[in-house]
Amino acid sequence: MESQKALNPPKGECRQCWYHAHASREAHKGLGPREDCPACVDHMVNGHGNMIVKG
Ligand SMILES: [Zn+2]
Ligand SMILES: [Zn+2]
Repeated sequence: MESQKALNPPKGECRQCWYHAHASREAHKGLGPREDCPACVDHMVNGHGNMIVKG
């Protein structure tokens, strides 16, 4: 199931970015088509913090 995949990132991936990539419609609902996602931008600019899945 797509949402299962979205919620279970493989190790080395960022949970938030993985979720936003694989459940994009869900993660980005409320944003306009040309609007940047603040969460995605934050990770792009500031990095992924402690949200990387550890092995
Ligand atoms: Zn991230
Ligand atoms: Zn996003």
